Amino acid sequence: TFRILHGSRDLAFALVGTTQQFGMIAETLRVIGPRHAVADAPDARPLVPLGGAIDFEAVSFAYPDGRRVFRAFSLHVPAGQRVGVVGPSGAGKSTLVGLLQRLDDPQAGRVLIDGQELTAVTQDSLRAAIAVVPQEIVLFHRSVLENIRYGRPDATDEEVMEAAHAARCDDFIRALPEGYGTLVGERGIKLSGGQRQRIGIARAILKDAPIIVLDEATSALDSHSEAEVQQALERLIHGRTVLAVAHRLSTLGGFDRIVVMADGRIVEDGPPSELHARGGAFHALWRMQAHGLGGGPAARQTG
Ligand code: ATP
Repeated sequence: TFRILHGSRDLAFALVGTTQQFGMIAETLRVIGPRHAVADAPDARPLVPLGGAIDFEAVSFAYPDGRRVFRAFSLHVPAGQRVGVVGPSGAGKSTLVGLLQRLDDPQAGRVLIDGQELTAVTQDSLRAAIAVVPQEIVLFHRSVLENIRYGRPDATDEEVMEAAHAARCDDFIRALPEGYGTLVGERGIKLSGGQRQRIGIARAILKDAPIIVLDEATSALDSHSEAEVQQALERLIHGRTVLAVAHRLSTLGGFDRIVVMADGRIVEDGPPSELHARGGAFHALWRMQAHGLGGGPAARQTG
């Protein structure tokens, strides 16, 4: 069902819209991620991931309604670099990570992973090269074990549990009424925001992709959960290329580089310490959050 749906999501939506399956299928589609309007080129080849270097080369992009986001936008992310992308709402952060996943194609310029243009590779191979941790983790009405296995459907139970352990999920899962067999999702046991995030991280660890896209949750966690999520994230991003849309600047301490965007352009770019010292846009955002101007929702100040 999965593969068929994947190829024709909108059609599937229309066809099953009135059946009882709708809930589950809609849930599946949400987890698969945003719509893929682009098709494989007839001669598309599998992406051969090396270290996960990312290049945006003179990319121009406008949404179908004419809203222009990028004009000759360029960004080079070397393999293994951890980049936090910050900036006000509407700056183009989500569009950037969307183009990297080839949710849309630019009208001009190129997006490449390890020197291979996204339009020339198969979407399956592209999807395999990128693990996305979304803001909102969707849980199926299945066991926790199956929910984590979603990160890599052919993983063994042992591999799923190893990923859960690495993502700091193991303790809370074992404390659930039926451990890894406990049903979660809409009609299952309710998990906390931090627990859901760690399930999302466990999925990504299991997927073992060279590139990680993080869309940091805006919802504030208590400091204990925050610390656990942070530890899980550190385990996930170790040794991988990371593009993280960050809302809480405090989580960017361990990043190699911060890209500050505004209106589809990069206005500041450098290591966090350097940007602090510079006292520019990043520093201003930081101060605003540090002083709680706009609150945990100061998050919202940056998007
Ligand atoms: P936020 O922090 O609020 O998520 P962002 O920095 O991620 O903002 P984007 O979501 O990339 O910004 O949006 C960049 C611009 O493109 C905005 O002006 C937005 O309104 C517009 N935009 C985003 N998605 C679409 C879409 N599907 N169709 C048309 N315009 C869009």
